[in-house]
Amino acid sequence: MDHSDIIIVGTGHGGAHAAIALRQNGHEGSITMIGRERDAPYERPPLSKEYLAREKPFERIHIRPPAFWADKNIDLRLGHPVVEMDALRKVVTLGDDSQMSYRKLVWATGGDARRLSCPGDDLDGVFTVRNRADADRIMASLDAGAQTAVIIGGGYVGLEAAAVLRKLGRAVTVIETQPRLLARVAGEDLSAFYHDEHRAHGVDLRLATNIESIAGEDGQVTGVVLAGGEIITADLVIVGIGIIPSVGPLIAAGASGANGVDVDELCRTTLEDVYAIGDCAAHASDFADGAVIRVESVQNANDMATTTARSIMGDKQPYRAFPWFWSNQYDLKLQTAGLSIGYDETIVRGDPAERKFSVIYLKEGRIIALDCVNNTRDYVQGRKLIEAHAVPDRAALADTDIMLKSLL
Ligand code: FAD
Repeated sequence: MDHSDIIIVGTGHGGAHAAIALRQNGHEGSITMIGRERDAPYERPPLSKEYLAREKPFERIHIRPPAFWADKNIDLRLGHPVVEMDALRKVVTLGDDSQMSYRKLVWATGGDARRLSCPGDDLDGVFTVRNRADADRIMASLDAGAQTAVIIGGGYVGLEAAAVLRKLGRAVTVIETQPRLLARVAGEDLSAFYHDEHRAHGVDLRLATNIESIAGEDGQVTGVVLAGGEIITADLVIVGIGIIPSVGPLIAAGASGANGVDVDELCRTTLEDVYAIGDCAAHASDFADGAVIRVESVQNANDMATTTARSIMGDKQPYRAFPWFWSNQYDLKLQTAGLSIGYDETIVRGDPAERKFSVIYLKEGRIIALDCVNNTRDYVQGRKLIEAHAVPDRAALADTDIMLKSLL
């Protein structure tokens, strides 16, 4: 049986950065990254943005140039899922039944796109957007002449895809079960702003709307049937309704976790010498008053990777990295600082009509998060207020003549 001092399962953002951080922190032993995708590590955010829009070719979204991994003596085993693990023997089994033993293991498998469960959900032309193959399939469908698109799910991924498809001149309908867009991740002010933007760009938005089935002909999607019977014509359907953490083998091996896998502040699971990072890892977050949450962001995956690498190298610094996120839609650059979970008040700073403003989230007067649209200055200064647990004057927060940094 092959042995690797450290095995990293998953070759996405977290896995790649764990390997990079291990080498940066002086690890000289063997590192093997096992990933079920065939491509060397690449960035996922462009899949619903520049890559889908064909503004960036695949070569430009590699996390590191493909030669980097061999240069750093990091063994990439691509195209192989880990299907089983034995935490006592410290052995993983791959899809081809081969096995490999480890001293330390880092589980960085992200999640699988959640699928619809309704009649017709498996028709050709029904896509998700989680990996390169998904985006390639959507692009092929556009090349084949798809003109009408229905996007199911009004979260960031769905709205980014909607913006790209409108830019490409396709007719787009977005269907969302909640009464507003971005309901899971943002407050009402931001939802209302993006609602107006997508409407202004010609997107047909259907809120508080449920789906009955996907209609098709000869195995190919032709439309989406709404509860109530209305049919929306579609040559392609993109389902953007979140992910299910890919933790099956880890949980089967005995790791604890109900929503993903539980980790402590050093990213350790309940299994000895097994760490978990990124989208699949549930941790108690200082930025959510200690609530156990999974954070789905590049920042979280990369910073957990750093915590884990350091911890493996004996430098045990708890995971307390500042959360940030971004989303690009049309010419709008959203930057989010902090986590808005549990907010009880919002303040809009600036005029959304000018397409440059911020939404500030407060909890008992304390500033906990900002959503900044085309407003990097507020983002940079606002994050310092969050870090300082500032309780600024509300009128001052709303006054754009007053710089946020002066409220520290
Ligand atoms: P991933 O990057 O998903 O990597 C996990 C890897 O593990 C995958 O390659 C997967 O195939 C593999 N894997 C899974 N199971 C197994 C197994 N059993 N064996 C082997 N390999 C396995 N975040 C932002 O901060 N900003 C954005 O603008 C943004 N936009 C996004 C747009 C899209 C379309 C998507 C899908 C995500 C976006 N995200 C964004 C989220 C961000 O990409 C994720 O939070 C990040 O990729 C998480 O990193 P990860 O390493 O946990 O998982």
